[in-house]
Amino acid sequence: MSPDGGPSAAVAVACDPGRVAVLSYAERPELGGLARLRLGRCRTVVVVAAHLDEELCAAGGLLAGLAAGHTELRLLAVTDGDGATSSRPDRAAAQRLGRRRAKLAVAYQHLGLGSATRYRLGLTSGAVAAAEHDVVAAISELLGFADPVGLLCLAPWASDGHPDHDAVGRAATLACQAYRTRLVHYAVTRWEHSDLPDLPMNRARRFPLSEMLRTRKDQVLAHLTRPHHRSASGRLGLTPGPQGHACEVFITYQGVHK
Ligand SMILES: [Zn+2]
Repeated sequence: MSPDGGPSAAVAVACDPGRVAVLSYAERPELGGLARLRLGRCRTVVVVAAHLDEELCAAGGLLAGLAAGHTELRLLAVTDGDGATSSRPDRAAAQRLGRRRAKLAVAYQHLGLGSATRYRLGLTSGAVAAAEHDVVAAISELLGFADPVGLLCLAPWASDGHPDHDAVGRAATLACQAYRTRLVHYAVTRWEHSDLPDLPMNRARRFPLSEMLRTRKDQVLAHLTRPHHRSASGRLGLTPGPQGHACEVFITYQGVHK
């Protein structure tokens, strides 16, 4: 299954997807030199996420823009965790992850993604590579039942650096090759460790965020990253969150698609 010698047995650590969410031209002017992401008409997008929050941190603006254009979104959550390998059941960790899942549901609503169909594969966080064939099967099922016209798959990059992200990226690539589906990747871990990750710049694309999308994403990030924040109404407030989301960055896959 793995092109680089098989699943990794290394202990995985938790992800910090917030780093990818704060890409701004002011801080990283090189981003302005990237070509713009052009998707054409998207009728259906299958979004694959390895861990909690990552699809919104990396692509929340794009997904909100697609939803506003009446694109149907189908999300596959491969795990319900944060990327860390758990050696034994931990009640406090389970409660923390449960709160994050509840916050994620609110974040979806705030970005206008409430109508997205959400699927949970329930694989073990930190050990996705050991069940990579299950991920291929799950993505294939979603692609196979969708109308191929205007179909797009959005998935982690197979060279992102976290073993779960890489496994999901490989699985998405295999499934999209089989169904000749257009594929676009997002990176998460690469942005954790570098202000300018070593991306394949010829395939990197920027998706500029409008002021409205930027504001909404700021608010969602504030909601997701504040551990004890809770508004009285259960809805997100209008207080701006962390500064600066001028664009999101994606990596296009140059495969054959319908
Ligand atoms: Zn992750």
